[in-house]
Amino acid sequence: MAATRQMEPERCIRRDRVTAAEPLGRDGCTQGKVVDVGRRGAQSCGMGHVSLRISYNRNGYYQPQRTCASMRIGSRSVADGNSPGDSPPRGATPSVHLRLSLLENAYGFLNESLAHYRRTSRTLRAWPFALFHLTQSLELMLKQTLSNIHPIFIYEDVDRPKRTVSLEQALVRLETLGFPVHEKERRNILAAANYRNRVVHTEVVLNKFEWKNIYVRLFEFAHFFHKRHLGAELHAAVARAHWPVEARLMAYFARTFVVYNGVEVHRRHPKDIVGAQRIDSFSDGRISYKRITYGCEPGWLALGGDSYADTPCHDCAVVKGQYHTEGCDVEECPKCHEQLLGCACW
Ligand SMILES: [Zn+2]
Ligand SMILES: [Zn+2]
Repeated sequence: MAATRQMEPERCIRRDRVTAAEPLGRDGCTQGKVVDVGRRGAQSCGMGHVSLRISYNRNGYYQPQRTCASMRIGSRSVADGNSPGDSPPRGATPSVHLRLSLLENAYGFLNESLAHYRRTSRTLRAWPFALFHLTQSLELMLKQTLSNIHPIFIYEDVDRPKRTVSLEQALVRLETLGFPVHEKERRNILAAANYRNRVVHTEVVLNKFEWKNIYVRLFEFAHFFHKRHLGAELHAAVARAHWPVEARLMAYFARTFVVYNGVEVHRRHPKDIVGAQRIDSFSDGRISYKRITYGCEPGWLALGGDSYADTPCHDCAVVKGQYHTEGCDVEECPKCHEQLLGCACW
């Protein structure tokens, strides 16, 4: 497993040779900048001295916050009995060079996500960061799966390997390559992309219980995906400090989710689906508009038939011919024919 590999720094710069915001340049370890995080950063890293944080890695991604902890993913092996993401020992030599493999990067984001998740009990503001880091971790795991077929497949355009694929593109690429994609994977990857877009690009409306269910579902999925495609339990990549919260999340998933229409949904969701079938129209106060059922969305049909409805709705799990449940991001507005969730008709 990549987490046990030794990292071979090509270039290390001691703190006393680096000034704040000194760029390493393209021949260094990163295309981004080196940022001096100051004494507070040093204290939080537990190494007793100033550490440096690299803004972007070779793939253009922001590095996990705790650079020092992340470095240990590569520099310490399982043989020493520690988990990736655990704090480095006092007195360890600081380095500004950091090269993370796709998987190491994925584990860094996963542990950072758990760190944010643990803060959600004190502040709701931690939720977007917990969810964002989790979806980023999933994307990197997907890329590793593509890279295992061939490293060139992680790029949008294989003839011009510059930008890497998004979550949705990674899914399409896997399917195009004839990779066996489980329906659970398709649904969760699309859901992860959707939630990340909501977090990053739009106003965020946050309901603690709803977000916990979203998070738990994706967290369990990350374990499922990692075991199926990367051949090992994801647990081994979780920092020891997060093991209790990991166990609680997995237990919550097991007692909260049920399989309905072949899809894992919250145990209260089947009741919501039944209730949604009783509402067949929306009214703007003057005119009543008949709701559009799943598989009959004119906007989607125009894109190429109704085959998308052969599988349950990726957001609310209704089947073809049923009305979507409240808040589903697939339902088409019968008045403006945009996405009902985002339109201003009602
Ligand atoms: Zn739906
Ligand atoms: Zn509308």
